[in-house]
Amino acid sequence: MRAEAIVDLSAIKHNVELLKKSAGTKLLAVVKADAYGHGLIPVAKAALSAGADYLGVALLEEAIALREAGIDAPILAWLVQPGSDFKKAIELDIELAVASLAALKEISDASNAKKAKVHLEVDTGMSRGGFLSEWNLLEASHLVNVEIVGIFSHFARADEPDERQNLDQMTRFNEMVARVHELGFTHVIRHLSNSAATLKNHAAAFDMVRAGIAMYGLSPDVNTLGTSQSLGLRPAMQLRAALYLVKDVPANTPVGYGATESTSADTKLGVVAMGYADGIPRVAHDAGVWCAGEKAPIIGRVSMDQFVVDLGAASKAKSGDWVVVFGNSSHGEYTADDWGAASGSINYEIVTRIGPRVPRIYSAHVY
Ligand SMILES: *Cc1c(COP(=O)(O)O)cnc(C)c1O
Repeated sequence: MRAEAIVDLSAIKHNVELLKKSAGTKLLAVVKADAYGHGLIPVAKAALSAGADYLGVALLEEAIALREAGIDAPILAWLVQPGSDFKKAIELDIELAVASLAALKEISDASNAKKAKVHLEVDTGMSRGGFLSEWNLLEASHLVNVEIVGIFSHFARADEPDERQNLDQMTRFNEMVARVHELGFTHVIRHLSNSAATLKNHAAAFDMVRAGIAMYGLSPDVNTLGTSQSLGLRPAMQLRAALYLVKDVPANTPVGYGATESTSADTKLGVVAMGYADGIPRVAHDAGVWCAGEKAPIIGRVSMDQFVVDLGAASKAKSGDWVVVFGNSSHGEYTADDWGAASGSINYEIVTRIGPRVPRIYSAHVY
């Protein structure tokens, strides 16, 4: 085997339990984007077995895949395109976010004996999805053919808990909830919090929280909220790769495309058989791998299928040895946070971009 992402489902369960306890409400487990790269179906099942009440995805296809795997828990899909097969969604009991009157009409028209279950998405200040000015035009008559089960919105700055915008969004959300109540829908599930708000803004928990990144054991923002460890979260994924080749090279040996770096001393180089086609960011110069109890930094440019690390002259590593690209740092290995920082990005992007060539392996014995 060349490379693998080992996913510890017991870590997912631990995180779901922790988040649900922290929120004190229902929990929607966000499993969009192949469960943030961890594998849609195994993660969905683990989350449900740990007490998640709902599953949340972006796309209708993702929701259909869950149903086709035999999962019968409530599912909400919130990025459903105009012209989608709404009849199929209704038939499969997939709940749909609605963010405009046009979408509401389309979904109402697809409803028949069985009504579509919808969550009204409101824009409380992020200016992405959700009703904004059209909200004032919404009337009870628009809602007769559908069943309103929820109202929700999304925070723009929940990872900066002291920002005024969080409070403004909550105020606006409460106003929009009041309007839905006025229209006669008093039992809707209200949900606003993502992972960061679930951890740091208990006043925003309402009836349900939507937890994504923290369920995978990663911090929504290590700088403002602290590390996984300090939040009590267990990172679920360890990305490992085999050293394809190890070789001794003299000082001043140029490495990789463009010869952007050369060895500073006689050393051993390790060729890792993963590259940007597998989701290793080409810009992540400051990251590296954990090899035989030590950090080995990247040297030279990351290629499509491989990159080179400087193992140091004294290294005992040999071809075929496994290295950890990122893990939970319990031994000092690099983390998804480190790779995020090294590529001017965030842990979310690191885990979701691991390519399809990397098999996901499920084991409770990652570490
Ligand atoms: C992705 C997403 C979430 C989860 O966000 P995290 O920061 O990963 O917890 C919650 N709600 C919506 C609408 C999302 O798109």
